Amino acid sequence: MISKEQIIKRFISYVTIDTESDPNSNTTPSTKKQWNLANKLAEELKTIGMQDVCIDENAYVMATLPANVEHKVPTIGFIAHFDTSPDFTGSNVKPQIHKNYLGSDILLNKEEQIVLSPDYFEDLRLYIGQTLITTDGTTLLGADDKAGICEIMSAMEYLIQNPDIKHGKIRVGFTPDEEIGRGAHKFDVEKFGADWAYTMDGSQIGELEYENFNAAAAIVKIKGKIVHPGYAKGKMVNSMYIATEFINSLPKMETPEHTEDNQGFFHLCSVKGAVDETTLEYIIRDHDKKHFEARKEVMLNLTNELNSQYGSEIIITQIKDQYYNMREKIEPVMHIVDIAEEAMIQVGVKPIIKAIRGGTDGSQLSYMGLPCPNIFAGGHNFHGRYEYVPVESMIKATEVICKIAELTAIKT
Ligand SMILES: [Zn+2]
Repeated sequence: MISKEQIIKRFISYVTIDTESDPNSNTTPSTKKQWNLANKLAEELKTIGMQDVCIDENAYVMATLPANVEHKVPTIGFIAHFDTSPDFTGSNVKPQIHKNYLGSDILLNKEEQIVLSPDYFEDLRLYIGQTLITTDGTTLLGADDKAGICEIMSAMEYLIQNPDIKHGKIRVGFTPDEEIGRGAHKFDVEKFGADWAYTMDGSQIGELEYENFNAAAAIVKIKGKIVHPGYAKGKMVNSMYIATEFINSLPKMETPEHTEDNQGFFHLCSVKGAVDETTLEYIIRDHDKKHFEARKEVMLNLTNELNSQYGSEIIITQIKDQYYNMREKIEPVMHIVDIAEEAMIQVGVKPIIKAIRGGTDGSQLSYMGLPCPNIFAGGHNFHGRYEYVPVESMIKATEVICKIAELTAIKT
């Protein structure tokens, strides 16, 4: 079906274009260079024969593959993002291809002695005998999420070239700025016009996710009183000591480094302090909505307690919700997960269904009216120099997309 050479060539044509996003920019896309890939993708969609290819003023790319059946079938969508993480440089990516991986160390960079080792990254052993694409150790790879784009593009091309595979209307969406949390912000759900969609933005082959964190950010501002230290008795209030009290009053084991699976946490991201004022930045995460709300309460109650203990409003805590667990929006339409699961089984992929310890664009889209589970794109070790992707996983993801299209036309 889809050849390795085709996939590799297409993938490399994407990752060699720098599309790093920038959280400090207010424009969309956050960096001008994202246009380079966005424009290329729009052209390519036209070349492979997609209809209604459109790129809007914010660089969102959309296109249609019309139905090739008479009966009414729901419109489904496939979405991936073309920016890469600002956590690590994405300029001058030089992908390295390792055919027939033997399970040993991969020397990414001889000069700097950078090694990708299965002793540290055990998942590598899952791919013995396969073709791996890695970095040269100096950049990230960008399989997150250019593998997803490559798979969607390849699947659409395959369906166009094989009209004997019957499917309903399919919409494709490529978005900027996912890595800075804004991929869904300017996504026009109405214009996209799908009944549901899938982001192709998961990691390991088989991943299928419809549950993510509920997320909030908290800023705790503590006011002190600065007085000359020699004459401070009874007068100085050192905001850093009160901050320490605050920090130590939260449950010590409920932090990222002590939790896994479905356990939530408080994460202290930064402390900026002087005697006069200290600011703490936290994020709060929990899959369970009730526990999530309770965590926010804990912080607010602690604020009130310390304020009454010190006799004035010295602490101000502001909490802002960031995104919610998409499970609530997916459960009423569980057949969209079932179709994806069955598609995987039919193409010989073992589904791995688990809760994401983070968010996806799909969670925001689900709350914007487009239910949107997440499917593996195949890569590992995102956002850094050890990122890699097995070509065989990309081919399987491409097959999963085609199969979902086919099953949707049969089952609904
Ligand atoms: Zn991603």
